[in-house]
Order: sequence, then C-alpha cells, then structure tokens
Amino acid sequence: MINRLAATTLPADVPAFLRTDEAINEIEYLGPEPDRWRSPAEPELVAAQAPEHFIDLELADVLGPLPHKRIDFEAKVLAAGQRPEKVGLQPWQTTEVWERLKAALRQYRAMTAAHQDTRPVEQAILFYAGWLGHYVGDGSQPLHTSIQYNGWTGPNPNGYTTDHKIHSQFEGAFVAATMHAPDVQKQMTPATAINGDIFDAYVAYLRHTATFVEKTYQLEKAGGFTGQGSDESRQFTTARLAAGASMLRDMIYSAWVSSGIPVNDPYAGK
Ligand SMILES: [Zn+2]
Repeated sequence: MINRLAATTLPADVPAFLRTDEAINEIEYLGPEPDRWRSPAEPELVAAQAPEHFIDLELADVLGPLPHKRIDFEAKVLAAGQRPEKVGLQPWQTTEVWERLKAALRQYRAMTAAHQDTRPVEQAILFYAGWLGHYVGDGSQPLHTSIQYNGWTGPNPNGYTTDHKIHSQFEGAFVAATMHAPDVQKQMTPATAINGDIFDAYVAYLRHTATFVEKTYQLEKAGGFTGQGSDESRQFTTARLAAGASMLRDMIYSAWVSSGIPVNDPYAGK
C-alpha cells in the first residue's frame, strides 16, 4: 500500500515512465521483496539482509552520533563488544538504496541526452524505487526502531504485553483487516523535495517514528489491534502508513531532483 501510494502521488515533473500503470504495479510488487529474502534456502543472504529492516535506536544511541557510513557504524558496534546484526542497519541500507536510485536516474538523464534507448535503465530505476519502499515502509512502523520490537522488555510498570505477537498483529493482521488506501492517501503530506543531507533527513524520520513506540503498546493494551480496533487505533495506523508513503514519495522525487546535479566523472582522464 505504501509503495503504490508513493508511486501514484509522484509529482508530474518526474519522468513519464515512472508514472505508468506498469511502473506503479512493479513498484508495488517490489514492496515486500526483501521479505522474500528470508528463506533458510538462502542462508548467507538472510544473515546479511535481516538486520537491514530495523534499528534499535536505544542501543545505537548509546554509542554516540550515528556515522553516515555503514562500515564506520559496524566498526563502532564491534569495538563496543556488540554485534551489528543485533543493533540493526536500517538507515544505512535505506540511504544506500536511495543512492543507487539516484545514480540510476543520473544515468537515465545521460542516456536521454545522448539519445540512447533508456528502457534498460528504466528497469533498474523501477527496481531501486520499489526496493527502497520496503525500508521506508518499515521505518514508519514504530516497532522497527526500538528494542521493544515484539513484546515489552525491561521494567514494565504499565503492564504492556510481553508476548511476542504485537509486531505482526499490528503491521500484519490489523492493517490487512482495517486499512484502506484512499483513507491513507488523504493523510499524506504535499509532495516536496527533501533539502539537505538524505541520511540526516532519514534518521530524523526514524526518530519521529520512534516517538510512537509506547503509544503502540498503549493501543495494544486497550485492544486497539484486535478485530476492527478503535477509532484511535485506526487513525494512528492510517497516519503511520501515510507518513511512510509520503516519505517514500519524497525520497523518490528527491532522488530525481538531485540526479540532475552534475558530478565529476571520477574516471575522467584515466
Ligand atoms: Zn522489512
């Protein structure tokens, strides 16, 4: 739903191939793609990619400011005697996929200017845009940003659920039973290009999501994710999906806008 809404609300000044029904269907199809990489039949892939869906911000922030580069963060985590796959790699994966998308859009501009056939690069762009959507969608779900990802841990004075059910109950069964794309679309923000550093903007988005962790548990405790839930739980969930769709649309749009900034060819003269 997030991928489809983002794709259908892209501003009119993105290339036309991105706004066709075929493109929208492809981007939608790719939303769950990284969840298709969780089979024990592909163990090396599972180990590498599972941590890219989440970040436990409480654990990451203990180590200081988040470095922009994945490998610097991993080194920092290991130096602290911890493991990157336990802390999570969400913002790095999202930023790297976004940069792949931007690079492909820059290539599209170059091939267009050279009057070359752009269909091959269009396929790559659709893949990156759809793949990106998975992580941005995960990043709208509070339980992807916290050690409280599936049942409360640690001191629990408010008696939140400790069962390992809330995560899929909220984002799976409850969303499927109650959420409708037209309601979500009404809550989306107007399209805008993201100014400034993409990693910083994305981390700010994750931190905003993380402010709703406890609210998610309060709603669960009140029965908000059972059956049709409550007005409050449906509004809350609609707003989360709208935040994800808005951010994904703005990130795709920003990749297009920033792909127009000329870069020096690193191989020029070599
Ligand atoms: Zn995921």
